[in-house]
Amino acid sequence: MRDWVEARVVGKHRWNEGLYSLRFEAPIADFVAGQYIKVALDIQGERVGRPYSLVNAPGEQPIEIFFNEVPQGPLTPPLSALNPGDRVWVTATASGIFTLETVQPTRDLWMLATGTGLGVYLSILRSPDPWRLFERVVLVHGVRQGADLAYGETLAAIANSHPGRFTRVAAVSREPWPQALPGRITDLLTSGELERHLGLTIAPATSHVMLCGNSAMIKDVQEILEARGLVRHRRQAPGHYTTEQYH
Ligand SMILES: Cc1cc2nc3c(=O)[nH]c(=O)nc-3n(C[C@H](O)[C@H](O)[C@H](O)COP(=O)(O)OP(=O)(O)OC[C@H]3O[C@@H](n4cnc5c(N)ncnc54)[C@H](O)[C@@H]3O)c2cc1C
Repeated sequence: MRDWVEARVVGKHRWNEGLYSLRFEAPIADFVAGQYIKVALDIQGERVGRPYSLVNAPGEQPIEIFFNEVPQGPLTPPLSALNPGDRVWVTATASGIFTLETVQPTRDLWMLATGTGLGVYLSILRSPDPWRLFERVVLVHGVRQGADLAYGETLAAIANSHPGRFTRVAAVSREPWPQALPGRITDLLTSGELERHLGLTIAPATSHVMLCGNSAMIKDVQEILEARGLVRHRRQAPGHYTTEQYH
C-alpha cells in the first residue's frame, strides 16, 4: 500500500493552453531537491496516480507540481480541471535519485530540460546544493512554443540571487522567439551553437550534466555526451551525467 495522504489545492496557474502548475497543502515528509511524489485522483472507483517532480524547495509549503495535459491520458485532463479547494491524493514520502546527493563537485552544472522537465530544476536551484558544488550553473529549457517558457520571473530571481553564476538559455523549436536560441536542444549541441552562445564547453573534466524530460532528447543527448567521454553517474561509480525520463 502506498502512503497516500489527502492534499488540498491552494493555487493554480495556467501558463499556456494545457500547461499548468498546481499548488497543494499536503502533509508530506522532508525530501531532497530533485525528488518526485505521486499525485492521484479516484477516477471511476480506481485510484489513478502518476509521478510528478516537486518544484518547491525542500521545507517549503505549499508543495507545487508543473505539468502538461496529455489529452488521451487518464490523469492529466481531470488534474488540469482542478481548482483551489479541490482535494487530491499525494504520496507522503518523495522518491527518486535525480538529486545532487552523490554528485562530485566540479566547475559547471548543466541542467537540460524539455517541456515540464524544467520543474525539477527549480527545486534544485532553490536549494543550497548546486551553489555548494559548482561554480557555474546553466539551465537550458527546450520548448516548442515560446509561450511554454514558464517560470521566467522565478528564474530571473534565481539569477539575481547568484550574480555571475547562473545562466538560463531558452531553446524554442517551432517559432522564432526573442532572446531564445532557435531549434531543439539536441541540434544546438550537435551544431556547437549552444556552447558557443555560452562560451562554455561540456567536457568530462569540468561538467556534470542533468537531463530531464522526453525520452528522445535524453537518448540523443546521452549519445552526444558519451561520444565526448562523459559516462553515466551512479551512486557506486561517480560519472558525469544523470537522467530523469518523464515519457
Ligand atoms: C519520475 C517521473 C517524474 C515525472 N514528473 C513529471 C512532472 O513533473 N511533470 C510532468 O508533466 N510529467 C511528469 N511525469 C510524467 C507523468 O507522470 C505522467 O505520465 C503525465 O503527466 C501524463 O499522465 P496521464 O495519466 O495523463 O497519461 P499517461 O497514462 O501517464 O501517459 C499517456 C501517454 O502520454 C505519454 N506522456 C506522458 N507524459 C507526457 C508529456 N508530458 N507530454 C506528452 N506525452 C506524455 C506517455 O508516454 C503515454 O504514452 C513524470 C514521470 C516520471 C516517470
